[in-house]
Amino acid sequence: MNILFIAPPAAGKGTFSDLIKNKYGYTHISTGDLLREEVKSGSELGKTLSDKMSKGELISDELIKEILEKKLETINKNKPFIMDGYPRTIEQAKAYEEILEKLNLDLGKVIYLKIDKETGLKRVLGRLTCPKCKKGYNKLTGYNMPKVEWVCDECNVELESRKDDTEEAYNVRYDTYMRETQPLIDYFKNKGNLIEIDSTKDADSTMKEIEQWLV
Ligand SMILES: [Zn+2]
Repeated sequence: MNILFIAPPAAGKGTFSDLIKNKYGYTHISTGDLLREEVKSGSELGKTLSDKMSKGELISDELIKEILEKKLETINKNKPFIMDGYPRTIEQAKAYEEILEKLNLDLGKVIYLKIDKETGLKRVLGRLTCPKCKKGYNKLTGYNMPKVEWVCDECNVELESRKDDTEEAYNVRYDTYMRETQPLIDYFKNKGNLIEIDSTKDADSTMKEIEQWLV
């Protein structure tokens, strides 16, 4: 079952993508990564992209569609995939469905990882990372609390918080995401593809709920 995630900031999309990829062998397709790879390859398309990016121009829907189609043509069709970062608008969703139809691929399920702003904010503000082993902790959510305050369980070094994890920045990111994505949520809901999953709980419980839809 192919998956498309819809997830507000701090809903855990990265965590669950990794878990599903490692446990079930999904191919992870991130449009951000695809754009960067195309630039690196030095192709004509890559040159066009790099030119636009360096000027700060938006990458058009047609270009993204072209790159994504190229990628989906070459993936191993025996393995399911996670689509990450696309589509973001209804126009893109329609373009995506055209690609899928053309390549005889299934949309699968659209998994909406629901999280309210308060819980997301706690997650973001409580984030602590070990500078040495990169293990993540959280001092506010009650999960992954370090045994000793501000100290990594493994390395015994002081944990760090991220400076860009501010309340104001999170609120703006969350509100913008929800405003822009609500039409897409409604679109997939009306089509009967949307699965809503409560992502405010700990990762294990949420993963179990997601797993029910993978087979
Ligand atoms: Zn550590």
